[in-house]
Amino acid sequence: MSTSAPKRLANLWDDAKAAAMSEPERLVYRSNLLGSDKRVTNYGGGNTSSKIFQKDPLTGQDVEVLWVKGSGGDSASIKLDGFSTLYMDKLRALKGLYRGVEFEDEMVGYLPHATFNLNPRAASIDTPLHAYVNHPYVDHMHPDAIIAIAASVNSKELTKQIFGDSIGWLPWKKPGFELGLWLGKYCEENPNSKGLILESHGLFTWGDTPKECYETTIAIINQAIAWFEQQTEGKTIFGGAAVPSLPAEQRRAIAAKLMPKIRGLISEDSHKLGHFDDSAAVLEFVNSNNLRPLAALGTSCPDHFLRTKIRPLVIEFDPANPDIDAVVANIPEDIAAYRVDYQAYYDRCKHDNS
Ligand SMILES: [Zn+2]
Repeated sequence: MSTSAPKRLANLWDDAKAAAMSEPERLVYRSNLLGSDKRVTNYGGGNTSSKIFQKDPLTGQDVEVLWVKGSGGDSASIKLDGFSTLYMDKLRALKGLYRGVEFEDEMVGYLPHATFNLNPRAASIDTPLHAYVNHPYVDHMHPDAIIAIAASVNSKELTKQIFGDSIGWLPWKKPGFELGLWLGKYCEENPNSKGLILESHGLFTWGDTPKECYETTIAIINQAIAWFEQQTEGKTIFGGAAVPSLPAEQRRAIAAKLMPKIRGLISEDSHKLGHFDDSAAVLEFVNSNNLRPLAALGTSCPDHFLRTKIRPLVIEFDPANPDIDAVVANIPEDIAAYRVDYQAYYDRCKHDNS
């Protein structure tokens, strides 16, 4: 892992490459560029779309088709077959069948009826969030810097303060048909807006060309990163450092001892692959005075729950007295306690119909 990643996102769009592509290929290209940096979106999270005019195989007429990331998969590695394709006129017609927010889940069942060209890729529940935005290109990402704003108690005020009128704000709403209608209404009422922040969730951005859409996404995230830099400059964050980092070689040697043990213990139900990250940002957090209370607060974007559970397990380790054998010996107990805690959270929060 790189330990010196620059804070700002680079604009990776290559006009020459994009010019040689078809519209669907440009959608794959845009998605891969966005997904390649995990600061833009988490693994498997977010989606991209293009509304493309194509020949209907039945009538030979040009029809508007929504290409949108389907269920499953990750933006960084998605290929053409990762996108579902749906007739836009049929998606618009669904508004006539909508019986209101208490019935919104039934709308998912209609999506397969709008399939274009017998595409077997299932449409995701995020499909309406793209369909009803009246711009041809839409990115929906879960960027770290945007989620930090979106999950703040005053996210609406912060959004206005940082982005002015260029980026709107919507209160938290579960992704689905109703949220799709909200997005459509927002776009119609704010034709000059470049996107919006959805409270506690992430970012929607759009454009009239794929390049404009991509560049807006990158620029808006960079604007958020710049704002955080300004706010935190010269300030102590995470309560300051409690411990110094061990040298990189020692960190890796310790990780190499821990990882097989951890993998063995968490792979009881299904096999897992491990990932070790000792980037500067991670070290700043794990070395800090506030590591334990902040870790206990957990993640703030519901989409991250799918991958990370509600909070990380903190394994006690003193770099001044690196007794790695004691750490290894305690891991089974640590993980068992984490399982009990998570099971209790799940039982406390589950609904009969969820
Ligand atoms: Zn999302």
